[in-house]
Amino acid sequence: MAFFEVPGWTVPSAPISNAPTSLSRKRKRPNPDAGVAQPVNLDKLMRKMPKTTEAEAVSEVPRDPKPSKKARSKRNRKPQKEGKPDTTPATSTAAAPKNAKKSAPREVTTEAQAGLSAPKKKQKQQQDAAEEPKPSKKKSKEGGQLTTLQDRMRQSLDGARFRMINETLYKSHSSDASRMMHEDPQMFEEYHSGFRRQVQSWPSNPVEVYIEELSSRPGLVIADLGCGDAVLAQSLIPKGLTVLSFDLVSRNPYVIEADICAKLPLPGSEPSIDDSEPGAGDAHVVDMVVCALSLMGTNWPNCIREAWRVLKPDGELKIAEVASRFKDVKEFVALINSYGFRVKKELKNKSNSHFTFFTFVKILRAPIVDEEWQEIYAKSNLLKPCEYKRR
Ligand code: SAH
Repeated sequence: MAFFEVPGWTVPSAPISNAPTSLSRKRKRPNPDAGVAQPVNLDKLMRKMPKTTEAEAVSEVPRDPKPSKKARSKRNRKPQKEGKPDTTPATSTAAAPKNAKKSAPREVTTEAQAGLSAPKKKQKQQQDAAEEPKPSKKKSKEGGQLTTLQDRMRQSLDGARFRMINETLYKSHSSDASRMMHEDPQMFEEYHSGFRRQVQSWPSNPVEVYIEELSSRPGLVIADLGCGDAVLAQSLIPKGLTVLSFDLVSRNPYVIEADICAKLPLPGSEPSIDDSEPGAGDAHVVDMVVCALSLMGTNWPNCIREAWRVLKPDGELKIAEVASRFKDVKEFVALINSYGFRVKKELKNKSNSHFTFFTFVKILRAPIVDEEWQEIYAKSNLLKPCEYKRR
C-alpha cells in the first residue's frame, strides 16, 4: 500500500475497486488480557491506542512528568480534574493520580505536530482552543466531568472513525453517502470535526489558496461544490463575491443541502439533443465552480457534468485534489475536456506538493448522448479513492 503524503489520507497502489468498503474489518492487536474479566482501566486503554500519527490528536497537550514553567502556569490557571473524586464509573480507575503518572512519559507526538512551523502551531492551538471545548468542561453521558484521559481516548476514537467515514465516502455512490449521513446525523458532525483537525496538519489548505486568489474579484458568482464548513463563502462574501455553498448536509446557514453528484439546485442547461450545433446551454448564473477535495463519490464524474451545466460560457471550473489520487493526470485532463472544457492551468502547489490544482474553462460543445455519458462515467477510476490507513 502506497502512503499518501497527506496525513490521514492514503491511496492504494493496488488496482482500484469500487466495491463498498467493509467497516467491520478489525485490526488485530495482541490482547494480553484476553479472557480475563478486567475492570475498565482507561489509562491502560489509552496506552493501547495508536500513539503517533494520529493527526486527529493534535490538540492533545503532552503529559510531561516535569511540565515546563509555561505549562505549570497554564495548569494553575485551569486546574486538572484528575485528582478530584469522580462520580462517573468509567473514570474511577483512570482518574487516580497514580495511574495518570504512569502514563506521563508518553508524549503524544504526531505527524501533524512534527510538520508544523511555530506560527502554524500557534494558529492551530488557537483554532483548537476555539473548536475544542476544554476537556475539563465536558460532560459525560452520566452528567459528570470528562477527564483529560477520557477526552484523549475520545479523540483517538474520533480520529479512527473519521478515517473510516472518509474512506466510505470515497468508495460509495453519492446517493448511499447521502443516505448514510441523513440516517446518522452524528456521522456528518464526526466527519467534519475530523476534517477540521486534519487540515491543521497540512502545510497549506486548497481553500486558503482559493481565498487568496479570489479575494480581489468582487462580483464573481461561485458555486462551491462539497463546501464542508463553507470557509470559502465565509471569507469571500464579505469581499463582495457571491458564494453558493453545497454539501450533503446543511448545518450552517451558508450551506445549501445537495448531492453535488446528482442534480444541483441551480439554473442552467445542456445543449438540446435536437440541436446539432455546438452550444453552452441557457439560463446560467455561475461564473465559477470550485471542487476542493470534494470529488469523492464513485459517481464523481456526474459532478463535473453538473458543473458544466450550471456554468456560464467561459466560466471556470476549479478542481483541487490530493495529488496521489490521480491515476494519470493527462487522462484526467482529457476526460474533463471531453465534457466541454479546455484546461487553462494545471499546477502542483509550489508550497505544497500534496495537492494538484486545475482550472478549466467551459467551452461550447455538441450535445452528448447517453452512450457517450456512460463512457465518461466509466472513467471514474481515474481518481483513486483515499483509504483508511490501517495500522
Ligand atoms: N471543500 C471543503 C471541504 C472538503 S471535504 C474544503 O476544502 O474545506 C469534502 C466535502 O465534500 C465534505 O464536506 C463532504 O461532505 C462533501 N461531499 C462529498 N461528496 C459529496 C456529495 N456527493 N454531495 C455533496 N457534498 C459532498
